[in-house]
Parts: sequence; C-alpha cells; structure tokens
Amino acid sequence: MGITTPSRATSTGAERAAAPKSFMKSLFNGHLEADMVFPYPRQEREARETLGLVLETFRAWARDHLDGAAIDRRGAFPEAEVKALRELGMFGMTIPEEYGGAGLPITSYCRLMEEICRHCAATATIVGAHLGIGSKGLLLYGTGEQKAKWLPAVARGELLCAYALTEPGSGSDAASLTARAVRDAARGVWVLSGTKRYITNGGHAGLFTVFARTAVDGEDRISAFVVTRDLPGVSTGKEEDKLGLKGSSTTDLNLDKVPVPDGNLLGEPGRGFKYAMEILNDGRVSLAAGAVGGAKEMIDRSVEFALERRQFGRPIAEFEMIRGKVAGMMTGTYAAESMVYLTTALAERDGVDYSIESALCKIFASENAWRVVNHAVQIAGGNGFIREYPYERYLRDCRINMIFEGTNEILRVFVTLAAVQRLGEELKKVGRALRDPIAQIGVLSDFALRKIRQAITDEQFPDIQPPLAKTAARAARYAEALSIAAERALRRHGKTIVEREFVQERLAEAAGDLFALVACLSRANTRVREEGAEAARRDIVLTRTFGNAAWRRIRRRLAQVEKNQDENLIRASDLAYSGRGFGPDLVG
Ligand SMILES: Cc1cc2nc3c(=O)[nH]c(=O)nc-3n(C[C@H](O)[C@H](O)[C@H](O)COP(=O)(O)OP(=O)(O)OC[C@H]3O[C@@H](n4cnc5c(N)ncnc54)[C@H](O)[C@@H]3O)c2cc1C
Repeated sequence: MGITTPSRATSTGAERAAAPKSFMKSLFNGHLEADMVFPYPRQEREARETLGLVLETFRAWARDHLDGAAIDRRGAFPEAEVKALRELGMFGMTIPEEYGGAGLPITSYCRLMEEICRHCAATATIVGAHLGIGSKGLLLYGTGEQKAKWLPAVARGELLCAYALTEPGSGSDAASLTARAVRDAARGVWVLSGTKRYITNGGHAGLFTVFARTAVDGEDRISAFVVTRDLPGVSTGKEEDKLGLKGSSTTDLNLDKVPVPDGNLLGEPGRGFKYAMEILNDGRVSLAAGAVGGAKEMIDRSVEFALERRQFGRPIAEFEMIRGKVAGMMTGTYAAESMVYLTTALAERDGVDYSIESALCKIFASENAWRVVNHAVQIAGGNGFIREYPYERYLRDCRINMIFEGTNEILRVFVTLAAVQRLGEELKKVGRALRDPIAQIGVLSDFALRKIRQAITDEQFPDIQPPLAKTAARAARYAEALSIAAERALRRHGKTIVEREFVQERLAEAAGDLFALVACLSRANTRVREEGAEAARRDIVLTRTFGNAAWRRIRRRLAQVEKNQDENLIRASDLAYSGRGFGPDLVG
C-alpha cells in the first residue's frame, strides 16, 4: 500500500507537475517525495511467476553449459553458448510478445542479468549489448514498420544488436562525435561515414544503432540510424585483446560512405543525442544488476572458502579482519541490490525521470563489485591470484563496469549538474524578476530560497517501524543536509559550478549513499511492516549496518564541500604535470 506524503513545497504547481517526477532531483531540491520510494516495490504475482520460470530454465541450462572460466580461457566469442541462449529465447526477453519476444519488464530483465553475470560476465555483456542498448533505440523510437522489419529477428537472436556511439576522438565527450550522415534525396539515402570504437558485439552484430552528425534545418545535429551489416561500406575491425570479458566481441565499426536508406532513420532527425542518453538509462541499471550478480557470486564463494580454510587452528572466517570484509561485502551488495530494484520499479512507472537513480546505481554497484571482488581475492589468499580459481577472472571482468556506459567520473558530473539544474530552474520560477538566476543566485533573497527548499524530517517517511527509527532519522537529516549543501554550492559558484568537479564529486557521492540508504530503509521497513521484525532480521541488520557507515560518509563529504584541501590537490597534480610524471627519485 502506497502512503503519500504530500509535498510541502510552495513551488510545486502545475508547472512542476508537468515535468516527469524525479525522486533524486526533488531530494536535491529539498523535497522528499516519499511516495515514490515507499513502500518498497514488489512485482505483480504474474510477473513474479513468469520470472521464476525463466530463472529456473536458465539455471538448469547454465549449471551444465555456461562455464565462465572456460569461455575466459578460450578468449573467443562463445558461439555454442550463444546458440543455446538463442534457443532458450534469452535474446528476446524484453522484446514485446507481438514481435516474438517474451516482453519481460526491466525488473525481470535485470534479475536475469544478475543470474547470467554470476556465471559469466562476458556472456552477460553480449546479452546486455543486444537487449540493454543495441536494440533499445529501435524499441523506443522505431516506427511500427521498422519494428516489424527487424524486431522478430532480433527477438530470435538471429540479428545480434550493437550500440555505436564511441569514436576514436570522442568517448566521454560523446556529443563531439564526428561520424557524419549526408542526405542524398535523389537516392533516398543518408550517406554515412565515420569510425566507431570499442563496439560490443561488433564482430557478430547484424544491426548497429549508430549516432552521426546530420544537417537538420540548417543546424548541425546528431541523429540516430539503424545500420545493418549487409549495407555496402560497413565493416568491422579486429577483435580487441582485453583485460577481461574475454569472450565478448569488441571491435571498431567502419562506415565508409554507407548508403543508409531513409527508412533506417530512428525517430526524429536531430534528436539522436537525446536518444543515445535515454537508451543508456536502462543500460546502466541493467549493468548495475549484473554487478550485483557478480558480487553475490563472490560473496558465496568467499564465505564458503572462509568457513573451510583453517589457519591458527580455526576457520579464517572467525578472524575479525575477515568478518569485517565479509560484512562490507554483504552490506554494500544489499544496498546495491536495493537501489537497482527500486530504480527498475521507477522505470516501470509512467511519468518518472529515473536518469539520476540509474546513474547512481551504476556508480554504486560497479564500485561495490570492485571492492567485493578485491576482498574476495584477499580472503582467498594465494588462491585469489591463481587462474585455477574464479577470483582473478571476476576481478578482471568487473573492472570495465566503472568505465563503459559512461565512466563513473562523467556520471558523477551528470548526477550533480542534472540535479542542480532543476534547483536552478526552481529558483528561476521564484525569482521571476531575475533573468539569469544561476549567475545571480547570490542576490536571491533568503525568503525566496526558503520557499523552494523546506525542511526534510523523518516524519515524512511513512510508517517507520521502531527498529528502523534511528536509521530513518539519519536519512532525513542527511537528505536535508544534501539539499542545503547543493543550494550553497550553487549560490557560491553560480554557473561556474560546471567547472567545480571536486564539488560535483562530493555531492554525487553523498547522493549515491543517500539513495542507497533510502532504498535499504524502504526495503527493510516494508518487510518489517508486512512480516514482522523477526522475519525481517536480515534486512534490519544490513540496513542499520550500511546506514551507520553511509551517514558518516555523507557527513564527511558534505563537510568537505565547504572545508577541504582542494588547493593542495591542484598543487600536487600540478607537480606531476609540470614534471611530466613523478619527478626526481629519492635515492640514486
Ligand atoms: C570493453 C569495452 C566495451 C565497450 N562497448 C561500447 C559499446 O558497445 N558502444 C559504445 O559506443 N562504446 C563502447 N565502449 C566505449 C566506452 O563507453 C568508452 O571507453 C568510455 O565511455 C570512455 O571513453 P574513452 O575510452 O574515450 O575515455 P575518455 O573519455 O578519453 O576518458 C579518459 C579518462 O578521463 C576521464 N574524463 C573524461 N572527461 C572527464 C571530465 N569531464 N571530468 C573528469 N574526468 C573525465 C574519464 O572518466 C576517464 O577516466 C566500450 C569500451 C570498452 C573498453
């Protein structure tokens, strides 16, 4: 049952209601939209049952046929496994039933990605590039005709999909891409040229979602196209030799004056960059789900090892330094899991902007997985470093999660700037007389600012149960602190906040911990309400333990927005830059 906490903000009105609701953007602005995240979402019975069947089928097959270690050793695209997954219908999981897919919602898809990742991250990457990002453009922006033409083969897995945004000169700064499509009206085609780099599934895909510059009403704008491999001028480069994900295909995509038929333009011309970013919203949350799956697998293996391995006459599991690691692995993964499925539920609702939540899931879950696997390697001792054991493969495989689908640095920039932009917009409404509110934010009266941001209290969390009362109080207090810190930062830096990455990083990190804390709180509280404190013991312990560490991290980061040693960090990095490296050796 959803309990609505009415927003107390005076600036909410018809204008705000028209914008898609965003839990985190509102929180940054001092509004706790508790009804968006309480109670913790649960799939409808039918969806749960379908997912149960899909998981059962997958597990039964994977147990005997999906050997991640063997795929890693072979270092080649796992043809046989992909064929089997095709036959199991895995490549059509999220494609609507009318096109021959299973039409699973994103929550179910993410749950399955977790499961695939437990076995083999390379295989999960193949499926993720196909469904999460490669075919997503067609699904979201394709016309009925385009969908009918390609989606049935996509759903059968016969037409493997890829997403082609990155170029040699354009990675994080994706909007600077240079691939170009020039309309040739006489031939009814767009002539597309350029090189795309590091394209997952590149060597095996039949359909690429490609982003290229185009002239739209005299303006230079990015558009999106479906490019099929059979078109003349399409070729792919050599397979990259990677640190991990050895079984996945990563190649260049070369486009040499490719005549892309008019009918392959996706959506409206000139809106390609927006589409590219929207597609990644779903991609990021499913990537985070995969990272949760990998982390769970490592926890299972580490715990088993720690209980078996004896040193000093007892299992190493008993030593406090091992317990500390296991506790961190458990709480971080519980938090990441809670964030992911809260976000997929938001994604399944109409009129919700979950772009910040999805970016936070990706940052948090990828960094949690890295810590978890690192601990797993340590707990395994020497075995952790030996290829015969799984740990080093998981370590190599999970490293990329912090780099692709938007590096974690870029996502931190995105989180803060997207959130304070909404704050800037609200300030604009309040300070009607001001023409340029962000630049002149310092002159806004306190009265106006108070109207925008109202105090957040734990009473705004609905029906908090006694074992979680303290955690809820902390969450409310630091939600309030985040909005105050964001507002101060915006007042202080105005438009130049876009250059203040130390500030952006701290606010984004605090926001990540806060969203994680709220997700855990909602999950645990819902369980206590529905099943009682005894049944919810695991949730209570993990939420409280995570919460105790999280609020301290949030407090520290927010304090550092004001008091920090940023000048020293600039000086120390300048030393490296001016000396072109570390500089003089101490000895010799
Ligand atoms: C295995 C693999 C698979 C991939 N699959 C795909 C795919 O299917 N499709 C696709 O389009 N791309 C894909 N990519 C590309 C990937 O998304 C990019 O590598 C990534 O976005 C980073 O771009 P870059 O490599 O050019 O690094 P750069 O953008 O050059 O960044 C280098 C470093 O600088 C940092 N940096 C850059 N700008 C800033 C800033 N403003 N503030 C702070 N730090 C900054 C980055 O965070 C990073 O640490 C894949 C890459 C790999 C390795």
